[in-house]
Amino acid sequence: MGLLNRLECPRCGYTTEGSAGMDAGFSGMVETMICRTDRELVDVLVWDSGYSSSSEVGTCYKCKGTNLETWDPVKHPCPRCGEQVRVTPMRIWD
Ligand SMILES: [Zn+2]
Ligand SMILES: [Zn+2]
Repeated sequence: MGLLNRLECPRCGYTTEGSAGMDAGFSGMVETMICRTDRELVDVLVWDSGYSSSSEVGTCYKCKGTNLETWDPVKHPCPRCGEQVRVTPMRIWD
């Protein structure tokens, strides 16, 4: 619950932070997806618990679009260059 990962591409230097997979929190359940519009990895709300009113299920929180692609859970491809990104767990509750 609430685990945040640092995602880093060794080839092009793209970095972001996210749940890197499925995660569940107060606002619902999020899944990391590739937004084709932003060429970014974004945590997309896939199930709404009802607590959150700001984000919509199945949309990119950055561009509000739905041009999303499932992120390969094994290959972890970079949204910019396709290289496998490094996933480093971060602690956020300390
Ligand atoms: Zn890259
Ligand atoms: Zn987007």
